[in-house]
Amino acid sequence: NGKFFVGGNWKCNGSKESITRLVSDLNSATLETDVDVVVAPPFVYLDLVKSSLTYRIEISSQNSWIGKGGAFTGEISVEQLTDIGCKWVILGHSERRHIIGENDEFIGKKAAYALSQGLRVIACIGELLEEREAGNTFDVCFKQLKAYSDAIPSWDAVVIAYEPVWAIGTGKVATPEQAQEVHVACRDWLKKNVSAEVASKTRIIYGGSVNGSNCAELAKKEDIDGFLVGGASLKGPEFATIVNSVR
Ligand code: 13P
Repeated sequence: NGKFFVGGNWKCNGSKESITRLVSDLNSATLETDVDVVVAPPFVYLDLVKSSLTYRIEISSQNSWIGKGGAFTGEISVEQLTDIGCKWVILGHSERRHIIGENDEFIGKKAAYALSQGLRVIACIGELLEEREAGNTFDVCFKQLKAYSDAIPSWDAVVIAYEPVWAIGTGKVATPEQAQEVHVACRDWLKKNVSAEVASKTRIIYGGSVNGSNCAELAKKEDIDGFLVGGASLKGPEFATIVNSVR
């Protein structure tokens, strides 16, 4: 389903020094050409990363403001992101949902605004451990998908990232079967609720404790179209291994 996509979400990590090193590792890595590669540094380093990457890696922000900029202390506008050459934004990440308290409607509006200004969106979804244990995984994911779908006019510039919250930063990766099962369910949801074309075209990537050792097995699954990588994306060579796990 579309070109393999690997994103590195650096979260709130790094310093000028460590990020300069990471970029230089990425610049010297050999990356498969048939993969869309995107990295999401913290806002303050976006420009540094953008200007020092020599490779065809695109940059993403980890968040964006819900509308046009102005008197919104501490926020970063979509216009500012596109101004510095940022092509993507990660929205709806579980850390923003569950630590910061962003809700479905707010996230949907952010996605709609970002898309309206030409920024592409990595739209995250995923269930908590207790939701999985209660058998509600699909319902939670469908509700989150619906919130995006209700807000956005088109899925053309959207990549869906399925990130089960219990797998994020825990070392407990979903099994390839567990991830595949949810990806198929989400694709079915898109088919029923949006269109068959969107269902087949939209990339659904997996995130949650992906590393250089487990990526190849996950990548074999038909409906896993790439990865959103946290911790392992902070290591250049390991991130390159994940990029090169394209099936
Ligand atoms: P980890 O790869 O560190 O589990 O994080 C995944 C994630 O949240 C990517 O957005």
